[in-house]
Amino acid sequence: MTSRDERSHLHPESQVVAAGRPAHTFDGDLNVPISLNSTFHATPPGELDAPVGYARYGNEAWSALEQAISDLEGGQTLLFPSGMSAITHVFGLLPHGSVITTSHNGYTGVQVYLAQAIEEGRLEVRFVDIANTDEVIAALPGSALLWIESPTNPGLDVADLPALIKAAKALGCGVGVDNTFATPLLQQPLALGADFSVHSVTKFIAGHSDLLLGSVSTSSPELWRRLSNARKFAGAIPGPFEAWLALRGMRTLAIRLERAQANAMELAIRLQNHPAVERVRYPGLPTDPSHARASQFMKGYGAILSIDVKGGAEAADRACNASRLVTHATSLGGVETLWERRHRWSWESPSIPKNLVRIAVGIENIEDLWADIDQALRASQ
Ligand SMILES: *Cc1c(COP(=O)(O)O)cnc(C)c1O
Repeated sequence: MTSRDERSHLHPESQVVAAGRPAHTFDGDLNVPISLNSTFHATPPGELDAPVGYARYGNEAWSALEQAISDLEGGQTLLFPSGMSAITHVFGLLPHGSVITTSHNGYTGVQVYLAQAIEEGRLEVRFVDIANTDEVIAALPGSALLWIESPTNPGLDVADLPALIKAAKALGCGVGVDNTFATPLLQQPLALGADFSVHSVTKFIAGHSDLLLGSVSTSSPELWRRLSNARKFAGAIPGPFEAWLALRGMRTLAIRLERAQANAMELAIRLQNHPAVERVRYPGLPTDPSHARASQFMKGYGAILSIDVKGGAEAADRACNASRLVTHATSLGGVETLWERRHRWSWESPSIPKNLVRIAVGIENIEDLWADIDQALRASQ
């Protein structure tokens, strides 16, 4: 099965396994090979429709992963060497001085990038509470791009994607969604009308904390063409080995996410009643402010949760340093459970509490996770 049409009826759990394979040939490869070439033999005149020619323009391993992400997200996908590179290539499409409306917290890399763009006069940014739909819509007139991360990192706020996308499109404002936390298995922004759906492929899609990659999917052939040219000629390109590894990781995305999400739900429920925890943020909890909204258009609540630890920043640090199975480290989306106090990074937004610990839940046994998190939290008090 090789054509996208043939795969389109499949469930996502099958698509992650079937997509991005070479065409069937007798005794041919089951997986795309890793092509370690900077240059390729010229094609005969008149056969210029599928050439790579030079490795800054394309690569079999990129194409396979791009195809696989496109199957899940819709539209056409381009790979970038990191999630940040994917995001800044989208911002790079905007004319000098454009207005972006976006959340006042969210992935710190984006916050730092935008702060510098504002300082240099390249972009104007309207910062809003992305969960407050009225506030976001009021900021839209005159904006060139609405940039939505949802659920947000690390606050776990959920934006009303269908309402915001509709309002922005009615005003002619472009919409980009950072879909990293949800993965394409839980929400599909392009199907809701967004122009771009972006991933830090580094996280859930690749899933093993061993590479950096990013992707942009768009339903617009014109935007795809502009992004593709920007990638070719700005010259920061992904490596073929990273793309190959990420596609290998993606084969198990559905099963990893299912397990990690079940673990996250169970941990969220138990942590709610933990004496060392002031607050749990997880859209899957019926008491969470994001629960009703997330239930309307997400197919699940993801594998990340955050807790506010009793006793402030010092207690939160003590907890993170006391775990044994759970690794004290940044990042998320891998098979292993990680946690960290977000304000150990000086650039975390002031709107995120100093004692907030983000837990990126992995696929370990739930009782082992609970025993470790419980003892670490108790030791922190
Ligand atoms: C990690 C992350 C990014 C940045 O991705 P990199 O691959 O590290 O460049 C962007 N958005 C979100 C939500 C992230 O978690």
